[in-house]
Amino acid sequence: MKARKLLMIPGPIEFEPEVLQPMSTPTTSHVAPDFVESFGNSLDMMKEVWLAPSGQPFIVAGSGTLAMDMAASNLVEQGDHALVISTGYFGERYAELLKRYTDNVDMLKAEHGKVVPVDQIEDQFKKKNYKLLTFTHVDTSTAVINDPRPIAELGKKYNVITILDGVCSVAGEEIRQEEWGIDIAFTASQKAIGVPPGLALLVASQKAMKAWNNRKTPVANYYADWNNWLPIMEAYGNRKPAYFGTPAVNLVLALEKSLQIILREGMETRFKRHKKIGKAFREAMKAAGLKMIPDEDRVSANTLSAPYYPSGVNGKEFLQKVSEEGIILAGGLIADIKTQYFRVGHMGAVNRSDLLATIGAIESALRNSGHKIEPGICLKKAQEILDS
Ligand code: PMP
Repeated sequence: MKARKLLMIPGPIEFEPEVLQPMSTPTTSHVAPDFVESFGNSLDMMKEVWLAPSGQPFIVAGSGTLAMDMAASNLVEQGDHALVISTGYFGERYAELLKRYTDNVDMLKAEHGKVVPVDQIEDQFKKKNYKLLTFTHVDTSTAVINDPRPIAELGKKYNVITILDGVCSVAGEEIRQEEWGIDIAFTASQKAIGVPPGLALLVASQKAMKAWNNRKTPVANYYADWNNWLPIMEAYGNRKPAYFGTPAVNLVLALEKSLQIILREGMETRFKRHKKIGKAFREAMKAAGLKMIPDEDRVSANTLSAPYYPSGVNGKEFLQKVSEEGIILAGGLIADIKTQYFRVGHMGAVNRSDLLATIGAIESALRNSGHKIEPGICLKKAQEILDS
């Protein structure tokens, strides 16, 4: 029996062997010509994946929280007004983070499973002159997705910089950064972009770069300061070596591979594939009578799902049973309902067999936990959708 388990949490995800291979090759110099080429190629491909041909990409060693910090510290000065649209744990984190840079942080918070209505955001914009707004495209704690389009439209109308936390969405959910007018979109390597943890990846619009250029005070974060990183990204972009902080050499080589795989699939195909997988998974859970945190399909993410345990099923025991079936899932993350739901990541390289294996394991664990369902009912539903 295979000892290896399938990692179906919302990041880190399962990685392609082709991507893992550069992780074990001897580390080269960060100024070696081959590495400079790979770094430059990765920057170019990021613009294609983000659909932001005139964006400025950044690749920096760190986790997704560094990408959040980089956007905040470079664009916020003390006294600026910032608005956070929160659909879960990571919205709250963003508000805490922004408070390090300005005292004027407001938050509009959605109920679990819902989004903040766009009218409410506009009402808030009428009250104060905001410099920027942040929103979580897919909140990994609730599996709620925000439609970026109307938010970016409002940003344009009120001249507010829009920051999309795409840690659980970039390279999975549909994002057209430039066409939609999103100023900053960032992610972390371990999610749908499909590279082991350790890279913060961000693309800034020209409007965001201009706002940064017009700052009156120094950036209050030394490591994240674009004054340090922009010359490095420009140099690598021009295939020239440069140094500020040592890049995560092997991770960048892995990133180059993964971006090639993503672009080989094509962004349109990839968006469609995630939509189908997301739908198949949700419908499979519903077939077993499980409720999900997002209360409508319209606000349900395709990169992960967050079903509630059915009544009478003990979450801890259920996750243990699924693990014995060879599948690793994640527990809840939102403090007040943490023990009532679980999370399943289905993004990036996830394929049909991974999804069906996961659904099969959940179904067996539910039955073994006393939840009475017909064998195969979830798999049948998922297959119907995957085959359509
Ligand atoms: N934002 C979102 C939406 C996330 O899902 C995460 C990580 N799960 C983060 C930010 C923070 O990323 P990291 O854990 O890599 O710092």
